[in-house]
Amino acid sequence: MTASCGLCEREIPDGYLCPADARALGERLERLPVAYKALGAFLAPAGHGGGERVSSGPAGSVLPVNEAVLDLRYGGIALVVEGWLSAVQEARGWGEPAIRGSIEDRVKRAARSLYANLEWVAASYPAAGDLAAEIREMERAALSIVGALPERGRRIGQCVSIDTSGVVCGAVIRQLPHQTRLVCDWCRCVYSTPQDWALLAHYQPGATPCQQPR
Ligand SMILES: [Zn+2]
Ligand SMILES: [Zn+2]
Repeated sequence: MTASCGLCEREIPDGYLCPADARALGERLERLPVAYKALGAFLAPAGHGGGERVSSGPAGSVLPVNEAVLDLRYGGIALVVEGWLSAVQEARGWGEPAIRGSIEDRVKRAARSLYANLEWVAASYPAAGDLAAEIREMERAALSIVGALPERGRRIGQCVSIDTSGVVCGAVIRQLPHQTRLVCDWCRCVYSTPQDWALLAHYQPGATPCQQPR
């Protein structure tokens, strides 16, 4: 019996997500905190730039902020990502994820933790297709408000720094043209010297030092 991808329904030898959709999910999780942050600019009161007027009702009842942005910022993104993280951790027999800090921190942490579970999700999580579809929808909703995310540069690998608990960061490191000092979005680790580049290349997961941009 073969399996099929939970998102595109393509036949795959086993597991629950095809490699392309697993990769796309990873990239969306990586972009999510950026999209979340970008949404903030659209909360500015109307008339002060950035805010979009929502007028539904008689003249004079103009809300100062975009309700869709509010939904995504204060409910949507954090709750959806944390909800899936909690479901994944439960399926793996792990405890509940810690939820603390600002909403921005929560989005960042939950997206990062889900990303860390990506391989397992694609291989062993029956609801992987639903997870991938929901993250895709949410990103689409956010992008429909903020437009394209800023140019983030060429992907040169995953962050290899190790935190105090021994966990490898794993965030994608990108490089803009002529940029010589790169700071990891997640752990703030800095890559700037030839030694840093060598370490980064040497410890890439799967021994594929520098992935070419697609
Ligand atoms: Zn697929
Ligand atoms: Zn890092």
